[in-house]
Amino acid sequence: MVLDQISLGPELQQIVGKWKSHKQSLGFVPTMGALHSGHLSLIDLSAKKADHTICSIFVNPTQFNDLGDFNKYPRTIDRDKEVLRASSCDILFTPEVLEIYPESQSTEVIDYGLITSTLEAAMRPGHFDGVVAVLRRLFTIVNPDFAFFGEKDFQQLALVKELCKREFEHMEIVSCPIIREESGLAMSSRNERLSAEARKKAAQLYQALIQVKENWVVSTPEILIQQTILQLESEGQIEVEYLTVIDSENFSEELREGKPARILIAAWIEGIRLIDNIQL
Ligand code: AMP
Repeated sequence: MVLDQISLGPELQQIVGKWKSHKQSLGFVPTMGALHSGHLSLIDLSAKKADHTICSIFVNPTQFNDLGDFNKYPRTIDRDKEVLRASSCDILFTPEVLEIYPESQSTEVIDYGLITSTLEAAMRPGHFDGVVAVLRRLFTIVNPDFAFFGEKDFQQLALVKELCKREFEHMEIVSCPIIREESGLAMSSRNERLSAEARKKAAQLYQALIQVKENWVVSTPEILIQQTILQLESEGQIEVEYLTVIDSENFSEELREGKPARILIAAWIEGIRLIDNIQL
């Protein structure tokens, strides 16, 4: 497929304006690049649901609470373009930093209750402020009908839904299932930085989630979770930051009868932070 690459917001808006004047719908897949099958599944879903699909690649500086992590984030634009050419994506949007942050990179502090205070928010201060800042700008430029987000970043998905409810009511957020490697490891751009051995080890995170799910008993969840963490950390290569079960809707650790719950994990392997989750 012919893939247009556009870096300027106004140029993109002109094309989107034309599509809209023809009553054609638009799906949007924001990414930070180093594309893998997880990203492509979002693009496929968009192509099924909308007449046109735009994918953005922007490694957003304001959502990294660690400069080293930002610098080391994989950047593989030539390969990404090849991948997108073979996909159903119409336009690749690659804005420069000044397009997204024309004035300053200071971000507003976002307070959506537990979503912006617990787990990822607590471990990565300022991270979600940066995510909201970039998405506000991208959504304003692209103005899509649908935006596609992976359940891989479960808390981010909740954040984006809340943002849309408050500020982009006309847009529909579509949540997409997690795409995994054969080993069960959730696909992630960060996996590229793992050694072959660590990549094998990392599959244990998914096994741990399954273990909690299969052995879940409401009366003694703490023991089950403690045992699972000990097991993961026993060989010294994995360091668990959190393993927990929360109410999928409000992120509270107090589960409600009949309401969906989610098991979430964040862990370090070879200095790389990985996250994963499954439904309880
Ligand atoms: P990223 O480039 O990591 O910012 O991710 C861009 C989008 O792809 C986000 O909505 C992610 O949740 C989604 N995504 C990343 N990895 C996966 C995966 N393994 N399965 C499904 N979606 C994913």
